[in-house]
Amino acid sequence: MGQEEKQSYLFPLFSKFPIKLVKGQGSRLWDDTGKEYIDLMCGLAVTNLGHVHPKVKDKLVAQLDELWHGCNLFYLPHQERLAQLLVDNSCMDAAFFCSTGAEANEAAIKLARRYAQKIKGTDRYEIITFRQSFHGRTLATLTATGQSKVQEGFLPLPEGFVYADYNDLESVRALLSDRTCAVMVEMIQGEGGVIPADLTFVRELAQLCEEQDILLLVDEIQTGMGRTGKLFAYEHYGIEPDIITLAKGLGSGFPIGAMLGKAKLIPAYTAGAHGSTFGGVPTAMAAGVATVETMLEENLVERAAELGEYVLAQLTEKLASNPLVTTIRGKGLLLGIVCTEPVADIINTIHAKGVLVVPAGPNVIRIVPAMTISQEDLDHGLDVVCQVLAEKAASAISTI
Ligand SMILES: *Cc1c(COP(=O)(O)O)cnc(C)c1O
Repeated sequence: MGQEEKQSYLFPLFSKFPIKLVKGQGSRLWDDTGKEYIDLMCGLAVTNLGHVHPKVKDKLVAQLDELWHGCNLFYLPHQERLAQLLVDNSCMDAAFFCSTGAEANEAAIKLARRYAQKIKGTDRYEIITFRQSFHGRTLATLTATGQSKVQEGFLPLPEGFVYADYNDLESVRALLSDRTCAVMVEMIQGEGGVIPADLTFVRELAQLCEEQDILLLVDEIQTGMGRTGKLFAYEHYGIEPDIITLAKGLGSGFPIGAMLGKAKLIPAYTAGAHGSTFGGVPTAMAAGVATVETMLEENLVERAAELGEYVLAQLTEKLASNPLVTTIRGKGLLLGIVCTEPVADIINTIHAKGVLVVPAGPNVIRIVPAMTISQEDLDHGLDVVCQVLAEKAASAISTI
């Protein structure tokens, strides 16, 4: 940079909203000018209990006084506790902890290959994923991601991923071969535009995996931790995946990822097969334990289901006659308002009016409130969203 002042010392990897956030409490956020916002995005499905939840904060502060790093070569009590909480409340039998979603999916991809190769041989490595999916930004997980925009410029991509069409079982069947080791799928494609999987598709997919003896990996990084009105979104479908991955909502904002797997997979992940220095550190585990305990003790998953029905009904009613809106879709508190045009400007206007929402793809406004949000904040937030959409529709008509 020459004489002019450098704007930022960061790689410009994110197209940022023009807001400097400095403080959060529950479902309210404040910027550096003191302006207050109602949070309907939760930092992208992360702060499911709202910002700085007192129970999570107390446990974290207590842990900060005790031990920050213990190393995975020792037994760490909160790790066992969090693993037990997740296993007891799912169809899974064992947990591995890491720090991000992409890492959780890496752990799942490696486990699927290792299990299949142990049983069926080294030519079993291929994983079927779906178009419009999102699984992360590491080389393997961006290859698993069925969107060319995240792969551009990163060739050569690792081998072993093929793409089916979402909600189309025949397209999965067409890709099956004696290389197939697993299918990896989201129950709602979050980044892809808040697209829910059909009930029959998921059930038949689970059945197909069982018949073919291939693993079913469900990426619950966005849909998990109560977000859709069940602790895990697979529960809506009455299926039992072999592996699920978690991250976003698991630590209330503390970096944490997890992979949970069925008992038959445990012998494939023995000492030395996989690992992570920061996975399962006492601080992150304390945040995870407090997050899950709070969700369960305060029946927040049920509340997310009820609030989700309410939000869907409100949006459907208030936006029914808005020509900019085609559908409202999603489940629980992971909803998308699908628009007929790009929503970037609409979202900036909603932000300027003090409500934070985020897009999911170019045409979808994602509504992702905390499961603890007050009725008043929720109603006010939704009013602002609907009002801005009404104004945009009216101005579009008047300029014709
Ligand atoms: C966010 C997300 C990821 C990636 O998580 P990171 O923590 O950003 O690595 C993977 N899968 C899904 C479904 C996600 O929503």
